[in-house]
Amino acid sequence: MKQTDVCVIGAGPGGYVAAIKLAQLGKKVIVVDREYVGGVCLNCGCIPSKALISAAGFYDKMQHSEEMGLSIKGATVDFKKMQTWKESVVSKLTGGVAQLLKGNGCEYLAGSAKFKSPQELEIKMMDGKTETIKATNFVIATGSRPIEIPGFAFDKQNVLSSTEALELDKLPKRLAVIGGGYIGLEIGSFYQKFGVDVTVIEATAGLLLGVADQDCVQVVARKLKKRGVKVLLNAKAVSYKKTGDSLVVKISINGAEQEIPADKILVTVGRRPNSDQLGLSEVGVKIDKRGFIEADKQLRTNIPHIFAIGDIAGQPMLAHKASKEGIICAEVISGKNSVMDVKAIPAVIFTDPEIASVGLTADEAKAKGFDISIGQFPYGANGRALTMMDSDGFIKIITDKKNNLVLGVHIVGYEASNLISEAALALEMGATAEDIASTIHPHPTLPEMMMEAAESAMGHAIHIMAKPERERRTPSAASTSSH
Ligand SMILES: Cc1cc2nc3c(=O)[nH]c(=O)nc-3n(C[C@H](O)[C@H](O)[C@H](O)COP(=O)(O)OP(=O)(O)OC[C@H]3O[C@@H](n4cnc5c(N)ncnc54)[C@H](O)[C@@H]3O)c2cc1C
Repeated sequence: MKQTDVCVIGAGPGGYVAAIKLAQLGKKVIVVDREYVGGVCLNCGCIPSKALISAAGFYDKMQHSEEMGLSIKGATVDFKKMQTWKESVVSKLTGGVAQLLKGNGCEYLAGSAKFKSPQELEIKMMDGKTETIKATNFVIATGSRPIEIPGFAFDKQNVLSSTEALELDKLPKRLAVIGGGYIGLEIGSFYQKFGVDVTVIEATAGLLLGVADQDCVQVVARKLKKRGVKVLLNAKAVSYKKTGDSLVVKISINGAEQEIPADKILVTVGRRPNSDQLGLSEVGVKIDKRGFIEADKQLRTNIPHIFAIGDIAGQPMLAHKASKEGIICAEVISGKNSVMDVKAIPAVIFTDPEIASVGLTADEAKAKGFDISIGQFPYGANGRALTMMDSDGFIKIITDKKNNLVLGVHIVGYEASNLISEAALALEMGATAEDIASTIHPHPTLPEMMMEAAESAMGHAIHIMAKPERERRTPSAASTSSH
């Protein structure tokens, strides 16, 4: 039996951040994980996917730089070597987290945890032994796992989850992606760049519906089409069969059946919380009907000494949201009066081009009763974007007409992921379009577009022709001038 102040279950970006913060605040901490330090994000999510996306991006640029005067002949892909490099990135980060846990005095146990009572946790250790931990507080940070659909059980051979799709050491010729959400599109896009024939099978009427600004999604959808990715909408995957070395996916579009040939099938239809193997009902921790643990703004469950953070505690299932909740709950456990009181959580989709957003969309703002102004600035009118040969996309800023307060920012384009934090800060600080517009942005850089979009929201961007209509749609590149 081990006794501690706090036991954190799960060492992902929620759990390990909570553990480090707790230790920094003077608590004795034990962290338990049944698989790995770093959780899904570092081992089979954010980091490995972005490593492969970056490699695909380099490869793609290499092949399309003739206009710049660069002709790179004979570029080849050694996918096995790329996987080794990707693994080295993952190891560097997971090793770093393990060191940070150790350095901060957290004890790490490799094993699977289950509540025995509200005060005790039973750990089935990796080495076969069983350990009991008694703690004053528990933090549940057990994350989520991919959802399976009928007829497509994950077999790691033919039907893959995102985890296996990021671990292949050989490129398939054809990949069928079931689910046009962000994970499916990110993985499908990088495989396409390596020459894989990709078909996306999406059950709803659009890609990323309800997830991203649809004007932004249209830019990505057009690029996917241009690259030859087949996107089938209103398409339901029914079953698949194996014929020889090949797979055939049977789909139904408005009742009409079609067959899609493939070598691998990737199923990315969402993720479900890991709340079913923890003995939660036995100790009375409330979960909702989808399996998420209900937690309040201090991340406290209905059992006051048990906290829940990250994917297990609900949407948005994003690493930075998990980490923020980890810090808040550590502060609360340490006696501070902290609450999860953020104005908005930014989200990034690493497609080509990237989509990044924070705050309300125009429709959401209108539905909330705001009289809005929309400022927009195209990449095509930004000098830096042109010098990088990446001029697809735009920045859109939604403001409250009454006082110019920034309500939401939506970016589609190169490096959108690295542009969105200024917008998140603006929302968090209660900035107006004027605040952004009057901040000097260095030239020539992509963030100048943020300044210009803010100016446009007030009706007078310098490098695009102002339109008389305050609530504008995408300005065409033809009506712009670059500098
Ligand atoms: C392919 C992919 C790409 C992604 N890309 C991004 C991205 O770019 N940006 C982003 O913000 N998010 C991304 N995500 C989502 C992100 O990975 C998750 O939101 C994040 O990992 C959630 O963190 P967490 O700490 O809640 O849980 P997790 O990271 O899931 O960690 C939970 C940990 O708990 C452990 N565990 C579970 N049950 C038990 C148990 N009973 N006992 C002991 N240990 C247990 C697991 O082994 C795991 O290590 C991506 C996800 C995927 C799959």
